[in-house]
Amino acid sequence: MQNQPQNQTTDQDVYKTLLESTKAIPWQIDWRTMQFSYIGPQIEKLLGWTVDSWVSAEDWVARMHPEDREIVPGYCIAQSKAGHDHEADYRALTKSGHYVWIRDVVHVVRDEQGEVTSLIGFMFDISERKKSEEEILRLQKELEHLSFKDGLTDLPNRRMFDSVIELEWLNAKRHRHPLSLIILDIDFFKQYNDCYGHLQGDTCLKQVTQVLSQAVTRSRDLIARFGGEEFVIVLPETDAVAARTIAERCQHLIQQANIPHQQSQVANILTISQGVNTIIPSQKDDLFAFIEKTDQQLYQAKQAGRNTIF
Ligand code: GH3
Ligand code: MG
Ligand code: MG
Repeated sequence: MQNQPQNQTTDQDVYKTLLESTKAIPWQIDWRTMQFSYIGPQIEKLLGWTVDSWVSAEDWVARMHPEDREIVPGYCIAQSKAGHDHEADYRALTKSGHYVWIRDVVHVVRDEQGEVTSLIGFMFDISERKKSEEEILRLQKELEHLSFKDGLTDLPNRRMFDSVIELEWLNAKRHRHPLSLIILDIDFFKQYNDCYGHLQGDTCLKQVTQVLSQAVTRSRDLIARFGGEEFVIVLPETDAVAARTIAERCQHLIQQANIPHQQSQVANILTISQGVNTIIPSQKDDLFAFIEKTDQQLYQAKQAGRNTIF
C-alpha cells in the first residue's frame, strides 16, 4: 500500500512518455470551460505553435483553414453534445503560414451521470495521405479524359463518338431536329504509307485533323477519329443542304492543303471520299442503321471513283 503513490507516479510517467513519443498528437479539452487541459509537445514540431499558445478551443478554430472552419467546428460540437465519438479532417495553419492536413479523432468522456466532462483526442498528420489521394483523383480524371481521346490526333475517339451520337440521336428525336452525319475516308492511304512511310502517314493524319477542324464551326459539332484513316463528323440540328455544304468544305480544304500523294490514282495530292446522311429520327428509326447507311454511301463514293461525296 505504501508503494502505491510511488507506482502511480511511475505509471503516469510511462503514459506521459508514451503519449509524447507517438506521432499522433494527444490533447484534452475541458468541456465546461472549453479550455485545453493538455496538448502533446509534438504539436510544436508539427505546426510551430508552442504548447502554451493552445489555451482554448477558440485557438483551435482560429488556426483552421477558413473553408474547413465553416464546417468542422460545428460538426465536432454537435457530435460532442450528442456524446458521439467522432473524427474530422481539416487543414491546420502552421506558424509559418502553411497548412497541414490533420485528422482529429475525438473521444467524448462522460461522468457517471452521463454528462460530458471532456474531450480527448489525437491529431494525426495526414498530409502525405491527402497528397496521394489528390494525385490519384488527378490521375483518374486524366485517364477518363484519355480514354475518350485518340492518342495520335488528339481528337475524340470512337468511344466518344458512340456516346455523343447516341445523345444527339435522342435530342434530335425529342425535338424533331435534323441530325447529319459525315463519314470520310482518305483515298489510297495504304499507298500513301507505302510511299512515304508510316511515320509520315501519322503526320498526314494529324494534318488532316487540322484541316477538318476548320470545316466545322458550331461548338456542338463533333469531329472524331472513327478508326484508321476514317473520320466522322456529327452535325446536330443540321439539315441535308447544310451538311452537304460542310462536306464540300472538307473536300475543298483538303484540296487546298495540297498534301502530295504521288501514288494516288485519282490525283497527285491527298483526297478524301465522303458519305453524308441526314435524318429526323422517328420512333421506328434505328441509330445503327443510320450509321450503316452513311457508311454505305461512303462505299458508293469509293466505287464512283473517290475524291467525291455521296
Ligand atoms: P481507299 O481509297 O479504298 O480508302 O484505300 P485505302 O488504301 O485508303 O484503304 P485501306 O483501308 O486499304 O487502307 C487504309 C490504310 O490506312 C491501311 C493502314 O495501314 C493505314 N492506317 C490506318 N491507321 C493508320 C495510322 O494510325 N497511321 C498510319 N500511318 N496509317 C494508318
Ligand atoms: Mg478506310
Ligand atoms: Mg482509305
